[in-house]
Amino acid sequence: MSRLVVASNRVTVASDTKARAGGLAVALQDALQEHGGVWFGWSGKVAAKPSPQPDLTTVGRVTFATVDLSRKNYNEYYNGFANRTLWPLVHYRLDLTAFSQQNYSGYLHVNTIFASKLHPLLKPKDLIWVHDYHLIPLGEELRSKGVSQPMGFFLHTPFPAMEILTALPSHRTLVKALCAYDLIGFQTENDLRAFLDYIVHEAGGAIMGDHLIQVFGRTVRVEIFPIGIDTDDMVAAGKRSIQAGKKAEHLPTGQHERDWIIGVDRLDYSKGLVERFRSFQRLLEKHPAYRSKVRLLQIAPPSRSEVPEYKEIRHMLEAEAGHINGRFAEYDWVPINYLNKSFTRQDLASFYRSSRIGLVTPLRDGMNLVAKEYVAAQNPHDPGVLVLSRFAGAARELDAALIVNPFDFDQVANAIAEGLEMSFEQRHERWEAMMEKLHNNTLSTWRDNFLRILGQAPYTI
Ligand code: UDP
Repeated sequence: MSRLVVASNRVTVASDTKARAGGLAVALQDALQEHGGVWFGWSGKVAAKPSPQPDLTTVGRVTFATVDLSRKNYNEYYNGFANRTLWPLVHYRLDLTAFSQQNYSGYLHVNTIFASKLHPLLKPKDLIWVHDYHLIPLGEELRSKGVSQPMGFFLHTPFPAMEILTALPSHRTLVKALCAYDLIGFQTENDLRAFLDYIVHEAGGAIMGDHLIQVFGRTVRVEIFPIGIDTDDMVAAGKRSIQAGKKAEHLPTGQHERDWIIGVDRLDYSKGLVERFRSFQRLLEKHPAYRSKVRLLQIAPPSRSEVPEYKEIRHMLEAEAGHINGRFAEYDWVPINYLNKSFTRQDLASFYRSSRIGLVTPLRDGMNLVAKEYVAAQNPHDPGVLVLSRFAGAARELDAALIVNPFDFDQVANAIAEGLEMSFEQRHERWEAMMEKLHNNTLSTWRDNFLRILGQAPYTI
């Protein structure tokens, strides 16, 4: 069996993962332990003088190779091009996409540094799997050093429509770099379609059938691999929440004891939180009977707080929640519980299970794992209802949810009301259909499918 080399922006060293059981880090580490290998990436630290050598930690059959970033590289590569250019761009927010040549050069520079630090760690029969938008040029940099091993890339975010992508001055260089990989994986058909559209109509490439394209003088395989969750783990966490009397039992309850609506999202403008609050406000306006009865529990841990757009969204949300609470609250009822902190998976499982509605309404999202987790944590004897944005990748598989357009506040408000009134039979039928999908496509299925197809590289027409 080939050794596996994983590269991702952040590396989770083994001991850190215990508290995050069930996540992507654990799934990748399982594969690394099985194949033996290296996990390479940024340590998460900024150093005045980063060491020229990666820091190596070996746990079992896995070596974690981490590198620090200088302040300048951190600002240009991470805060700059990755989080202020690529992230808003792939989430269709051209209005927030700030292109700077300096940040772009910093992004390319860090990828060059990463390639020169990773290269000496590689062995001839390795399979190399690179993750996400931070590291698009890494493969091309490795190829330029003579690396010919199979290299795959998985994009966790959406791939934007050609009209959006071409607004980026460096779009062609970036897509050409992407095509240095043998295999490119996307979350959904939409993303693959957008990519192929670019390849054919902008890059002058050709689709050769059977998932193969020819472009920039290379043959590349393209596939859809919708990322899953550790379904059994979330089902078990949901069950444990009742047995152990976990946190959700302390959610204040009244006559309508399960009439909580839950949202769990990093504090990010792509998650549609302002629109969500306004839709909830619309529910209270249109259906006054729900006042003093339903509550929205919105968990929103801050992220990327050094980036100005994230500071701004935080202020907007505080104002919005304050406005709605000020307008509707009673002395014994506050409509929105808005929490800027993070919770463990186990806590989330009990919140999910105790909530009648899972409200997942991103304006654009590669997949959205919270949607899947909400469904998996439900009590089969009294499942809640998922209200899901059509713009989340998860809507492709979870089509038995109440699918909404997050920009249409009336539609979202009506879907919440429909969910609150839904009969047990309907709730159960929808839940069962979604659970079947979650059991058929788990996080390990996703990982194993990717590695199986990567193992078949190089591909021939
Ligand atoms: N999460 C968590 N604690 C929190 C909030 C979120 O562990 O307080 C986890 C959540 O369970 C999910 C992940 O963070 O697994 C978020 O993934 P998702 O795909 O929904 O969004 P992303 O943050 O990757 O854009």
